Amino acid sequence: MADRYLHLTGTAPGRFLTRRLGLPQPAPLRRWTLETPHLEGPLLHLTAGASAVAGVAESLRAPGLTVTDRADLAARPAAIVLDATGVASAVGLGDVHAALHPVVRSLAPGGRIVVLGTVPSPDDHHQAAAQQALEGFVRSLGKEIGRGSTVQLVRVPAGATADAAESTLRFLLSPRSAYVSGQVIELTAAAPDPVADPAAPLAGRTALVTGAARGIGAAVASVLARDGAQVIALDVPGAREELERTADRLGATALPLDITAPDAADRIAAAAPDGLGILVHNAGITRDRRLANMPADRWASVVEVNLDSVLRTTDELLKAGAITRGGRIVATASIAGIAGNTGQTNYAASKAGIIGLVRSLGPRAAADHGVTVNAVAPGFIETKMTAAVPFFIREAGRRMNSLSQGGLPVDVAEAVAWFAQPGSTAVNGQVLRVCGQSLLGA
Ligand code: NAD
Repeated sequence: MADRYLHLTGTAPGRFLTRRLGLPQPAPLRRWTLETPHLEGPLLHLTAGASAVAGVAESLRAPGLTVTDRADLAARPAAIVLDATGVASAVGLGDVHAALHPVVRSLAPGGRIVVLGTVPSPDDHHQAAAQQALEGFVRSLGKEIGRGSTVQLVRVPAGATADAAESTLRFLLSPRSAYVSGQVIELTAAAPDPVADPAAPLAGRTALVTGAARGIGAAVASVLARDGAQVIALDVPGAREELERTADRLGATALPLDITAPDAADRIAAAAPDGLGILVHNAGITRDRRLANMPADRWASVVEVNLDSVLRTTDELLKAGAITRGGRIVATASIAGIAGNTGQTNYAASKAGIIGLVRSLGPRAAADHGVTVNAVAPGFIETKMTAAVPFFIREAGRRMNSLSQGGLPVDVAEAVAWFAQPGSTAVNGQVLRVCGQSLLGA
């Protein structure tokens, strides 16, 4: 459903009126297109104190951006990366202020700020305090920066090579992360897998996407196909026509199958005889009622589709070796699973369960199978599901985030595609909120 308010604030009279009334000023977001695939302009590389990660400058080679450490630029920076990995004390935090305070106003609209930190140490509470402080800093700056710009914290562990961070920085420093802000991503030290063709980084990989007939799942299938994957699009047999239309459009294979079927994993494995490189658990349902009014079947169906079938098929496919080494599993959580939501005890429980799943399984799946496990947690995304929400609740959902607008299915899909990159081996057990920094939840 069109966001008429966003359209209104894009006109001069609309902007004037809404400013006078003190209403939100959403900036149109620059998303990936074939014509404008990159941010363009200077990338200002700053350091707070001494860097604790060797060679991080090399990982900043994002296409379209020219790295410089000179703050006195003629052109506004399109992005600023602050290396704060060496900040280990409360006093050291002063270097963060000293580095960013003079330049933050010069960031171009739709710009990016990425703060590089490291993992708070269990053995050094001064370092832990300073590194944890960066989280509060980034989340606050995300709320005040405005003009469609975003701010993130990437934690690079001591001992990681800078190339472990490269795919993450490329994603965050690109139009693909337009609706991601205020996020903390903690990397492992794992080295990236090689990419043969940067224009088609997923070439040679088979990706299965559940719930792919429409909405977010169809967008995920489309972006994975754009990036070179051979896609199998799965949805319930009742959605066969829509599924086949989507699959035909993308050159994908349609697999009409209810993911809760007892033989679902076997049928998925049979559909990908050479193994799956990417498994995206996207299918999801809501059956809202307050707990006091919720019959057991509404509870059970939501937990079955959103969580239990994800656990079961993941276990069975991993056990059967149907997910290839270097493989990627991406599940779909929700802001509701972080913040909770009236009438959604079943849905929020199932989505919080997804978060538990990826955090626990990620490290073990990497050790045992060479597979990463991550989740996206969408906020308010413009789909048929949210178009059905009553007007005032929908408007509140759209505006209650730092970017003052709803996201698009493609925003979630771009995050899934980043998790799926061969270069993202160091991204594991993470939950990325794609929510424009929603005011709800952590
Ligand atoms: P949607 O209802 O438009 O699409 C979901 C798809 O999943 C449908 O095509 C449906 O047929 C399919 N599906 C449902 N049960 C299935 C089953 N048993 N087996 C196979 N396929 C099944 O929803 P959407 O808005 O595109 O949401 C996609 C995912 O994102 C869901 O997991 C949802 O919970 C999550 N999510 C969405 C939003 C949002 O704002 N739209 C926010 C947070 C999380």
